[in-house]
Amino acid sequence: MSLPSLKESIQAYGLDAKKSLGQHFLLDPGICARIVTLGGDLTGRSVVEIGPGPGGLTRALLDSPASRVDAVEIDERAWPLLEELAGHYPDRLHIIRQDALKLDAASLAPAPRQIIANLPYNVATPLLVGWLRQAHSWERLSLMFQLEVAERICAEPDTSAYGRLAVLAQWCASCSVALRIPPGAFSPPPKVHSAVAVLIPHAEQPAPELFRAMERVTAAAFGQRRKMLRSSLKSIGGEALLDAAGIEPTRRAETLSVAEFGRLAELHLARSR
Ligand code: SAM
Repeated sequence: MSLPSLKESIQAYGLDAKKSLGQHFLLDPGICARIVTLGGDLTGRSVVEIGPGPGGLTRALLDSPASRVDAVEIDERAWPLLEELAGHYPDRLHIIRQDALKLDAASLAPAPRQIIANLPYNVATPLLVGWLRQAHSWERLSLMFQLEVAERICAEPDTSAYGRLAVLAQWCASCSVALRIPPGAFSPPPKVHSAVAVLIPHAEQPAPELFRAMERVTAAAFGQRRKMLRSSLKSIGGEALLDAAGIEPTRRAETLSVAEFGRLAELHLARSR
């Protein structure tokens, strides 16, 4: 039996978009296909999709040579629709009925593994930080965010967008804004513009305790971004830490490169042992 169109599926299963779940659906197969190409050659790869909703992007992923798609959806209204889709792709599409914030990567298909997703914007940043904590688990992440968040992920020092998210993301991965998408491409249209950021994790990743040290350093530094670092970093070593890292204590957080933050995190960890 052939697949119903996306619109027919949405109607048949009564999947009206819920704001509380960040639901803005992509119904244009051409846009979904372009997002999938950002994953590169998916031959033999498994792909995790967060929030498949009515399954537009899922269908495009299933049209790719990916060997397996794990689709993680919290909205129980979408589960029967997704199970119907899975019936058309036995053994390739797995529906994971779960909150992505509580997802255990060990339960997913083995590496090489990517994430390709049109994320629910209300939880997009905590999801990303969680994946960065285990960046070695992912070959590539192609993620739709609201444009402002995608720009913050890829921001350069000395700009107002540069902050904790840029440092954490760029410390773990090469990051770029790959595709901008206007509100009208979604149903219903969000109030903001959107963009897909592509993150390719570096070969070397920080150990979990070093990542936690970086989270503390960046939280302190950007928590008071207008202040000089000798003052904003007072609770974690202040001037002594900055001296050891060879960083002028009168500088402000947004002037530091990712590598300088890396030095601070290593020294902070060494001193807290
Ligand atoms: N992928 C679909 C598309 O592109 O049309 C839907 C994208 S919509 C922006 C976000 C999806 O994430 C919705 O299906 C929503 O139900 C789901 N979602 C929201 N919060 C979630 C969570 N914590 N865990 C898993 N899925 C979630």
